[in-house]
Amino acid sequence: MISVFGSANMDLVAFVPVAPKRGETVTGHRFRTVPGGKGANQAIAAARAGGEVAFLGAVGDDGFGAEMRTALAEAGVEVHGLRQVPGPSGIAHIVVDDEGGNSIIVVPGANGTITGPSGEDLAAIAGSRALLLQLELPMEAVVAGAQAGTVSGVPVYLTPAPAQQLPDELLDAVTVIVPNEHEAAAITGVTRPEDAMEALLDRVEEVVITLGSEGALYGSRSGSRLRVPAVKVEAVDTTAAGDTFVGALAVARTEGMDVPGALRFASVAAALSVRREGASTSMPTRREIEDTLG
Ligand code: ADP
Repeated sequence: MISVFGSANMDLVAFVPVAPKRGETVTGHRFRTVPGGKGANQAIAAARAGGEVAFLGAVGDDGFGAEMRTALAEAGVEVHGLRQVPGPSGIAHIVVDDEGGNSIIVVPGANGTITGPSGEDLAAIAGSRALLLQLELPMEAVVAGAQAGTVSGVPVYLTPAPAQQLPDELLDAVTVIVPNEHEAAAITGVTRPEDAMEALLDRVEEVVITLGSEGALYGSRSGSRLRVPAVKVEAVDTTAAGDTFVGALAVARTEGMDVPGALRFASVAAALSVRREGASTSMPTRREIEDTLG
């Protein structure tokens, strides 16, 4: 079992010619709602990639919460650990313009009420082969989640997004950190990804820095250094590429694939996701990943 302790948001996406300025109203082309949030995205990505996955988190008592639960369950994610709390679910209000640029407002809602893993969450984490964390829950909850993983000897994967500096107590409890290059720079203060990786390896056992269409860098404290090329695809929407990468990576590693094989599996999954629009709607199935791997 892979546990994901993180956020569930409903993405409210408006496609517009040009994003409105203050005081302005614009007419959009179209609108859609898509289940999202980095936690839910990683859970769905891992389940579609063939993992047995439990999602631990919270939604509100509104219609979005019910839709999120259904979307996770339909993707094959175990949702016993998804609690309902009074008030609104988390949302991300996303405006996409004709040039593909976007602006996003995230309102944490139910995600913001989580202060740490519940007793049931702790039991689920202890019985897991990997724990996936991101930074869309309150920091105290993320730290408590990571420490729960460490205490149980469960490998803890952290996607340090949204980008910010991290408390030492969090880094000390993480096994594999998977930032993109901007997040790696925000954490370390070092812009060159190769240098940021060495800085992160002072604190964390394994580091993967994703570089978008340039692929990814991998390093471990045991001395391994790898560069993973991206798979060439026509990019339609890179939203949640990183979440797809991490979800697939965790599946591959928990199945016992070696590091180069697992990184290749993750790169293929992420590349397939950028060929389609949306976050959770774009993630490939195990079959699609294996067909592409050949
Ligand atoms: P994030 O989505 O967190 O910003 P990245 O943009 O670095 O993360 O993408 C994560 C991974 O997704 C990359 O390491 C790569 O494997 C894959 N990926 C992203 N963009 C592309 C692309 N245009 N073509 C192929 N693969 C991509």
